[in-house]
Amino acid sequence: MLLRALREELIYYGHQMLISGLTMHTGGNLSVRDPESGLIAIKPTSRPYDRLRPEDIPIIDIQGKLVEGQLRPSSEWPMHTLIYRTFPRADAVVHCHSPYALAAAAAGKEIPLINHEICMHCSSPVRVVPFEIPGTEALAESAIRGFGLDNNVTLLGNHGSIAYGATLWHAFDGVCAAEQAAQTLYLSMAFCNGGAPAPIPEEGRRALRACDPLQRPDDGKPPVIQAV
Ligand code: 13P
Ligand code: ZN
Repeated sequence: MLLRALREELIYYGHQMLISGLTMHTGGNLSVRDPESGLIAIKPTSRPYDRLRPEDIPIIDIQGKLVEGQLRPSSEWPMHTLIYRTFPRADAVVHCHSPYALAAAAAGKEIPLINHEICMHCSSPVRVVPFEIPGTEALAESAIRGFGLDNNVTLLGNHGSIAYGATLWHAFDGVCAAEQAAQTLYLSMAFCNGGAPAPIPEEGRRALRACDPLQRPDDGKPPVIQAV
């Protein structure tokens, strides 16, 4: 079986998404790339997270072609593979429909950098890109624009959040940070009588952002190979 350890890690983080309340039923998806072969393990489409076995995880190549597995890859494979093609240092992608991040995405409300977790993934407020039909190239290209060259996390309008990272741990941390920042924004607006809370000061934001492993790579890969 190809990429057994990565398949098991993917199942673990899929389960974490479910039990952390970041997704319901079969919503969202995640993938991880093997840096040596370039092959990608990805969640199968429309399958419950708590029943996934390693043999259920499809393996695809960077163009989305099925290399191993019986089940169909996530319908969002165009978005996952475009992220890997665009950001060569990204080796994992996590997408979910977590409630506060989705609410912000539905409201078209970008999330300011108001807690330290999100500052580790973003240099600018988390952007919201316009709604696109799930599973399309248009959504994939829109997500790339949402990341820009400065953020690892973006909100997909009326849909959810997506993050890329150096590992599944890192990408999962990105969607957790977006959910937490959206919750914090919502709650602190009540303390601010509807106004916006202040972001973390720039010096602190810069120090936190420097903790992102993608900001200090030693792999010789370019940060980005194309801008969409
Ligand atoms: P899949 O079950 O095909 O991964 O789709 C879930 C989803 O979140 C679509 O955006
Ligand atoms: Zn989705």
